[in-house]
Amino acid sequence: MAQHSAHAPARPAGQVVPLLDLDRMVLRRCVHCGLCLDFCPTYRLLGNELDSPRGRIWQVRALADGRIQPDDPHLRTHIGLCLDCRACETACPSGVQYGQIVEAARAVIPPASWRERLLRRLILGTIFPSPPLLELVGFGLRLYQKSGLQGLLRRSGLLRLLPGRLADLEAMLPPLQGGVFRRPLPPTIPAQGMRRARVALITGCVAAQFFNETNWATARVLARNGCEVVVPAAQRCCGALHLHSGEREVARALARQNIAAFEATGADYYVINAAGCGSTLKEYGHLLAHDPAWAERARAFSQRVRDVTELLAQLPLEPPRAALRCRVTYQDACHLAHGQRIREQPRQLLQAIPGLELVEMRGADECCGSAGIYNVVHYDVAVRLLEQKIAAIAATGAEIVAAANPGCLIQIAYGLRRQGLPLQVAHPVDLLDRAYAQEKASS
Ligand code: SF4
Ligand code: SF4
Repeated sequence: MAQHSAHAPARPAGQVVPLLDLDRMVLRRCVHCGLCLDFCPTYRLLGNELDSPRGRIWQVRALADGRIQPDDPHLRTHIGLCLDCRACETACPSGVQYGQIVEAARAVIPPASWRERLLRRLILGTIFPSPPLLELVGFGLRLYQKSGLQGLLRRSGLLRLLPGRLADLEAMLPPLQGGVFRRPLPPTIPAQGMRRARVALITGCVAAQFFNETNWATARVLARNGCEVVVPAAQRCCGALHLHSGEREVARALARQNIAAFEATGADYYVINAAGCGSTLKEYGHLLAHDPAWAERARAFSQRVRDVTELLAQLPLEPPRAALRCRVTYQDACHLAHGQRIREQPRQLLQAIPGLELVEMRGADECCGSAGIYNVVHYDVAVRLLEQKIAAIAATGAEIVAAANPGCLIQIAYGLRRQGLPLQVAHPVDLLDRAYAQEKASS
């Protein structure tokens, strides 16, 4: 059953499907035209109408009307196989907000087994909301890599003895940035030159542990562009993984903590370098719309959220003066291109770097198979999507793949390693940061 806040619903009850806590009009907007089908990666790959946006909406309508139950095994399978990439949203001429539909359905579909329930509780309910536990996991992984243990185990072949998919999951682990001990960002980084904005940096949960140097690069690039950067210590995981996995109440609790933490900064903008998180943060207004105590604060919070590429383009960017001679291809993160409709700004930033040649890949806005924890839960489908993506990347002849989302960077790096391709992966701000560093070195 869906869980509801203790507060009275702010929306008219007649428009809401009680089981799903979803506005009925969101479901009715789909006219079954099928124009989204060719844009859906799972439909293209699996060829099953039930794995298409139209088929999934039909199943959720059946759930809303009581024709099927939340524990229906077919419903669980087909809703579970959705990447929540939202390519169907940007393709849909009727403006169907598909993300709301799939997230509402996942919130009421019960876990398939006690093991899944336990894992969800441990990973999503306990580790992700707790900064000290995340720090501990990050430290353990960095120690495993930097001590040489990972290399030793990989060379020995012992990892192949791990049960189930564990060896594949271990192989996915990217080289974690920085040393064994994470170098946290300071609470404030002053603007260089005239202050153009005060921004609060959202450092992320996985991103802070895996891509700490990219967070530093983000802060430096913002400061170089006249932003005073503050890093609120009380921030938490944004709740995106929870929302996509059906843990809506945990996501709401995290949203409330983040709203309070960022309001206290007095910043003009709340800036994030992870597309999946940014998309969720911009939807806090919707997530807490039912909660009169938080609805207005959540809306105001979401209005201040900017992807870092969006804000830099808006400022606008001060182009680096030094050249970075490289050939780069850009992967549109689904939750940037489809979730936030941001496509041009990251490309503009890359093209502002002298010497950088941007080459477009085929299907740049098609999902790489990362999709939150999809590549862990549906490894086989994710790898088939990844293989298509790597072929498109290889055809560009680029030396660097840029993407503005940690999940895409991890997945693409894994695909490149699997095929022995020597390309680098980088966030666009990493490349800007390198160009600014060149500028300093040559002045
Ligand atoms: S989601 Fe949109 S494009 Fe897809 S079938 Fe429904 S109305 Fe048509
Ligand atoms: S979110 Fe992506 S995978 Fe899911 S139905 Fe839409 S296009 Fe298909």
